[in-house]
Amino acid sequence: MAYKPKTKVWLKGQFESIIKITELTWKFVIKLEKNFKYQAGQYVNIKVDGITRSYSIASYDSGKNSFELLIVKLDGGALTTLLFGKVKEGGSLEVEGPKGKFLLPESIDSDLFFICTGTGLAPFRSFLDLIKQKKIVHKNIYLIFGTRTRSDLLCYDEMLEWKKDIKGLDYIPVLSREEWEGASGYVHEQYKNIINDTDLTDPIFYLCGWRNMILDSRRNLKDMGFDSKKIICEIYD
Ligand SMILES: Cc1cc2nc3c(=O)[nH]c(=O)nc-3n(C[C@H](O)[C@H](O)[C@H](O)COP(=O)(O)OP(=O)(O)OC[C@H]3O[C@@H](n4cnc5c(N)ncnc54)[C@H](O)[C@@H]3O)c2cc1C
Repeated sequence: MAYKPKTKVWLKGQFESIIKITELTWKFVIKLEKNFKYQAGQYVNIKVDGITRSYSIASYDSGKNSFELLIVKLDGGALTTLLFGKVKEGGSLEVEGPKGKFLLPESIDSDLFFICTGTGLAPFRSFLDLIKQKKIVHKNIYLIFGTRTRSDLLCYDEMLEWKKDIKGLDYIPVLSREEWEGASGYVHEQYKNIINDTDLTDPIFYLCGWRNMILDSRRNLKDMGFDSKKIICEIYD
């Protein structure tokens, strides 16, 4: 039988709300006209004015045909210039997906490391929202989030709140360009310290964000003796 390429299915949707989280990172809540189901950690392709880009879903599926995205504005970026300019609440877009295999294990018998920079937080917010809402049994979770300054901290108050509800969640924000009461430097020092100081249960490492951080973390973890099957990556560029 002749090979038939899969046709892409684009669903119609609306920007239900647009919320400024920091100066450069906004939360876009998207509502679809049709039934839309997804798993925590997946991503979608969105199309606005003919421009298509991928974004990790930052929420968990509460069955309302809607989802949240955390998007950072890039200077001169084709789609983000539209999203942070012309696009308004109530405006329309098209969505393809959900896609991707950046997923939690079926049962969580391992300690989990969620290591990210910037909007790489998005799929981890989705995982944590799911764990919190569905009261999913888990081991220890280390959320290590790197960014430049205090004003770039995404969802900081929210994560501090979620830490109270999610037993065993350690939230470690790290600033690379500012001294503050929390950790300073890069994410690498933080996971290395935890690994060296803690008796971990068969840890799984999830890495999300821009290429350099992921490749460096992956190499460090492999050098520390962890199997590449336990290092799961979502690269944004
Ligand atoms: C699976 C997946 C999930 C993603 N999830 C998210 C998400 O949740 N949130 C999010 O904000 N982005 C996410 N991205 C990135 C997103 O798809 C776009 O690449 C980004 O929004 C830039 O699009 P643009 O059209 O504005 O810029 P473009 O016009 O495509 O790019 C401008 C230039 O900047 C470079 N570039 C892209 N991103 C960066 C960056 N952060 N820093 C420096 N240079 C960069 C590009 O390589 C390009 O050369 C994801 C990408 C993938 C593949």
